[in-house]
Amino acid sequence: MKYYPIILSATLLSLSSVSVFAGNAFYGDAPDANHPWAVHDLNRPQPPRVEPGATVGDAPSDAVVLFDGTVASFQSNWQHVKPQDKRKADWTAQDGYMLGVGGAGYIETQAQFGDCQLHIEWSHAQQLPGTGQGRGNSGVFLPGGIEVQVLDNYNNPTYSDGTAGAVYGVMPPAANALRAPGQWQSYDIIFRRPIVRDGVVLDEGSMTVLMNGVVVQDSTPLDGGGGWKKRKPLNQPYPAVGPLSLQDHGNPVRYRNIWVRPLRSRPVEGGTDGRLSETATNAKRAEIGAEVRASAANMQGMDQTMRLLEAFMYDFDSVAWDVCNRQVTESIGELRALATAELRLRKKQVMHLHNALSYLQRFGTISADYQPAKELHGIADAMGWLK
Ligand code: MG
Repeated sequence: MKYYPIILSATLLSLSSVSVFAGNAFYGDAPDANHPWAVHDLNRPQPPRVEPGATVGDAPSDAVVLFDGTVASFQSNWQHVKPQDKRKADWTAQDGYMLGVGGAGYIETQAQFGDCQLHIEWSHAQQLPGTGQGRGNSGVFLPGGIEVQVLDNYNNPTYSDGTAGAVYGVMPPAANALRAPGQWQSYDIIFRRPIVRDGVVLDEGSMTVLMNGVVVQDSTPLDGGGGWKKRKPLNQPYPAVGPLSLQDHGNPVRYRNIWVRPLRSRPVEGGTDGRLSETATNAKRAEIGAEVRASAANMQGMDQTMRLLEAFMYDFDSVAWDVCNRQVTESIGELRALATAELRLRKKQVMHLHNALSYLQRFGTISADYQPAKELHGIADAMGWLK
């Protein structure tokens, strides 16, 4: 009669209680020189929760509301650029909108912003007099002074890089999606400022603009921005933050429902979204690896081993490796002592460990000659679990 050992080993007991995530510890393609996380990596932080507005165009929960239709929000968020004694009129808030009139000068936010998502709605009261750039001209100026043109060119030809939805002096809109004068128009703008450091253009910046829901700028390179008959060379530092401002071009224009949200930082600013440099990737991988190892500190047995093995996806730590190597070697020794029927009950856990070691070998983290992995492979193969 065959002898079936009674399973009392603490290691084997814990082998049967591997956490839900441990078997998923090794995700898709591993971290590499430019990607600190694996594909589908469960250690990658969850995005923050944002409650969207009730309908498209309403401010989401994390937006900075710059004008909600009230006089109070107008007064607490905006200021005239020109001193009072230098202007002939004032911007006002009434009937749920802000009104800019000729002689009031620009108005700007009291707060400063960097890269941002901006929602803003505007309208002309009615069909306006004037032609070309002289009909309903205003403008939405993003931080640093690049303008998205506001104009009544519904039926009023002018130079295309100065029509509504143009990045003024840089790029015409891809389409004229204006509604007729007198109706409310909307802009949704995603602004990424140019980043120039030590004379080197690290990112030329971009603007995406939706006019009334239609894409009219699609990651348009900013090229330093433009002005009237001018290009602005991209050879000097672009401000990291600045106010948002609205133009007085001598024509009355209404604005309402204005809100802004900051965007996540880019890799050139130390952010981790996107393809990272090798140096930044290595630093981030070391950080993630340390966090994963720290999270293993209160675990026991095979749960701990699996979590420590997971950390090797990011970087190699010799102390953790000693712990893993010892526990893996012990576990395999104990598995070898099990009879087939007992071993069969451990299939899931054995395969978790087998797959973890295979993953690390496949991506070169541990040697292809690592003997315990070979032994585990042999056990799994003999049980017919590799088919
Ligand atoms: Mg303008």
